[in-house]
Amino acid sequence: MTDSTAETASSFAVYGTDQGGPFVLVSDHAGRAVPPALGDLGVSAEERARHIGWDIGIDGVGRQLAALLPAVLIEQVYSRLVIDCNRAPGHPTSIVSVSDGTPVPANEGLTPEQIADRHEAILHPYHARITQELDARLKAGRPTAVVALHSFTPEMRGFKRPWHAGILHNHDSRLAHIMLDLLRQDGLTVGDNEPYALTDTSDYTIPLHGEKRQLPHLEIEIRQDLIADEAGQKDWAERLARLLPEAWAQFCKIYGVGGTVEALTAQDNQQSVPASVKQAGQASR
Ligand SMILES: [Zn+2]
Repeated sequence: MTDSTAETASSFAVYGTDQGGPFVLVSDHAGRAVPPALGDLGVSAEERARHIGWDIGIDGVGRQLAALLPAVLIEQVYSRLVIDCNRAPGHPTSIVSVSDGTPVPANEGLTPEQIADRHEAILHPYHARITQELDARLKAGRPTAVVALHSFTPEMRGFKRPWHAGILHNHDSRLAHIMLDLLRQDGLTVGDNEPYALTDTSDYTIPLHGEKRQLPHLEIEIRQDLIADEAGQKDWAERLARLLPEAWAQFCKIYGVGGTVEALTAQDNQQSVPASVKQAGQASR
C-alpha cells in the first residue's frame, strides 16, 4: 500500500498512480481537516471524530484500493462539517449548523461571502481536480469509470442497518447492478440504493462527474464497523480490487468497452446480461 501523497493541494490529495485501468476513485468524505481560520468549528475533537465529521475508515480502504488496482484516488482532505463536497453549492445540507444532533457553531449565520470562500477554497478545487482527471482521460480516448467511495454508520436513529455495504445508483444503473450482483455472490448482504438512494439532489459528485458526462459509474457505501481498523480496511480494499475489474470486464462484455458500443446481438444480450442488469433504466427504487 501507499501512504504517500503523490500530489497535494489545499483541498484535495491524490493517491495511487494511473497505470492504464479504467477506474477513477473519488472520496468526498475521507478527510477530517479544518482550515486553521475556522479553529475547531466549535465542535469537540470527540464529536469531529464521529461519522458527522468524516466517513470513518474510507481513507484506508480508498488508499489501499488505489494501490492495488492500481488507480488514481482523489480525496477531499477537509471535514464535511466544513462543507459537504457531495452536495451542490447552496444545497440545504452543504454547510450544516447541526449534524446528527451536534451543533456546529462556526457554521451559523454565515454571510454569502463566507459561504463563497468555502466554495472557492474547498469545494471547487476538489471537483476541478476530478474534472481535470476525467478530461485528460477522455481526451486520450480512454474508457473511464467513476467510483465514489463512502462509509455509513452501523446504526441510525435506533435502526441497526443490516447491510455490509450498499451500491447507490440512479440514472445509469448498469455498472452498479453488476457490482451489486458480484458483492452478493461474495456472500454479503448488499443494499440496492440502501442505506441511501442516489438522487439528483441528494448527491453531487456522481451526478456531476458520472451521470452528466455519461461515464459508467457507481457509488459504494461500506458499513463503518467493518472498516474501522486496518485489517478491515485491507480486507475491503482487496475485495474491491478483485471485484471492480471483474465488474468492468462484465460491463465491457455486455455494453462494449466504455459502455458506448451498441453493436450487441440480441442473442449475446440474452446470454450475458445478468438478471438485475436487464432492469437497468427502469426506476431504481
Ligand atoms: Zn460519505
